[in-house]
Amino acid sequence: MLSSAKPDLPVPLTDLKIQYTKIFINNEWHDSASGKKFPVINPATEEKICEVEEGDKADVDKAVQAARQAFQIGSPWRTMDASERGRLLHKLADLIERDHLLLATMETTNAGKLFASTYLMEIGSSVKTLRYCAGWADKIQGRTIPSDGDFFTYTRREPVGVCGQILPWNFPLVMLVWKIGPALSCGNTVVIKPAEQTPLTALHVASLIKEAGFPPGVVNIVPGYGPTAGAAISSHMDVDKVAFTGSTEVGKLIKEAAGKSNLKRVTLELGGKSPCIVFADADLDTAVENAHVGLFFHQGQCCVAASRLFVEESIYDEFVRRSVERAKKYVLGNPLTPGVSQGPQIDKEQYHKILDLIESGKKQGAKLECGGGPWGNKGYFIQPTVFSNVTDEMRIAKEEIFGPVQQIMKFKTLDEVIKRANNTTYGLAAGIFTKDLDKAMTVSSALQAGTVWINCYGGGGNQCPFGGYKMSGNGREMGEDGLYQYTEIKTVAMKISQKNS
Ligand code: ADP
Repeated sequence: MLSSAKPDLPVPLTDLKIQYTKIFINNEWHDSASGKKFPVINPATEEKICEVEEGDKADVDKAVQAARQAFQIGSPWRTMDASERGRLLHKLADLIERDHLLLATMETTNAGKLFASTYLMEIGSSVKTLRYCAGWADKIQGRTIPSDGDFFTYTRREPVGVCGQILPWNFPLVMLVWKIGPALSCGNTVVIKPAEQTPLTALHVASLIKEAGFPPGVVNIVPGYGPTAGAAISSHMDVDKVAFTGSTEVGKLIKEAAGKSNLKRVTLELGGKSPCIVFADADLDTAVENAHVGLFFHQGQCCVAASRLFVEESIYDEFVRRSVERAKKYVLGNPLTPGVSQGPQIDKEQYHKILDLIESGKKQGAKLECGGGPWGNKGYFIQPTVFSNVTDEMRIAKEEIFGPVQQIMKFKTLDEVIKRANNTTYGLAAGIFTKDLDKAMTVSSALQAGTVWINCYGGGGNQCPFGGYKMSGNGREMGEDGLYQYTEIKTVAMKISQKNS
């Protein structure tokens, strides 16, 4: 939200026109070198929205060259005042605000996200991210250091250089600004590959980048597929850093490609199987609602989804009863339609993967409380599903589902639940519900997770570093810590005749 007052929800655009479908390099639109295009699908209707130019290695090479040129010493970008970089980011934020309704309609149509969510939350949150990063641009500074000997010593935080940024499909615009905001604030140039499912808002923002007045080559956007355009970025010899958000499986490939090419810096924000722990003394209404939204938000397609819910034995049955009641309230349908509260999964592949995991839950002996199958006769819809009597070794308790499927497990003691919560290869987020401060502190320190929420699930914002322990990723995004991952720190020691304290 842009102000504390909630804006009313307008009617989505009924005549959405897709104006930008090409590759954006040097502030100009290009056809793909191969001449190929790929279809962009509306997941609610399975209809083709448009075709987009399909970037591959040759297009990535061209984009990297442009980004390198824009990063040369003495270039307009390198000689620009840091405060001016901040002004350009604010200008981009202004233009996104201007195109609020168009971007929300586009994101909902392309990514299957509820219009209430794109319009009331995601566009505003993207604007805030850019403004947060804009504010940092002239505050990223080094130190003077009292080093031994007769030296004047200081550090500089310099931009890393050309940054490749590979985006996921679940929050297309939010993830785009999480990548470009910090990178541009610190003075880098970027080559971005949006997810193949959801390139449209990124390409619209490309036009706004030009309109805002960023010099050519500072931002380049190459739509295309992962194993082709994505791999060309991660293995490129002239890309200095790659930032990726997506699956752990692909995260491993990216790190491997970086190692095999030029040891580019790598930051990864990957999958999760986040525990949410509800103690018997918790406020039950708050815990049920937060655990529910923590899982079902955006059809379960969030890396932080609360997909291992541990509930203390004495309140287990009541908790399950209330969770099932809550899950049955959804209205499924086209996410542009008012009153609809659950949209489709992103594509056929994810849809089948989720249905397969639901079947595994049934076969491995979990109790299906509601849902458990597909919905409707077109679009990738899945019924909101709740499983109880889930045990730790079941696939639904171990694998990231990325769908509207809640797993509720039972626990008896604090020590037991800490061990079980940490018994995973992931470590992205965790939730704790209790009124006992001591318990909250003990458990939050013991959990191996990049973010821990106490008596809430979700929350934080641009100011907070976000990322994972273990196989949920490397490094952090956003906050001061996240910004610094777009800088190299340089020590400069100058010989002087005599230092004085
Ligand atoms: P999901 O499995 O949820 O679709 P992915 O991790 O496959 O998530 O995709 C996230 C992003 O990574 C997308 O932009 C996709 O195109 C890209 N990607 C997929 N495979 C590769 C790869 N081998 N190298 C680089 N990027 C890839």
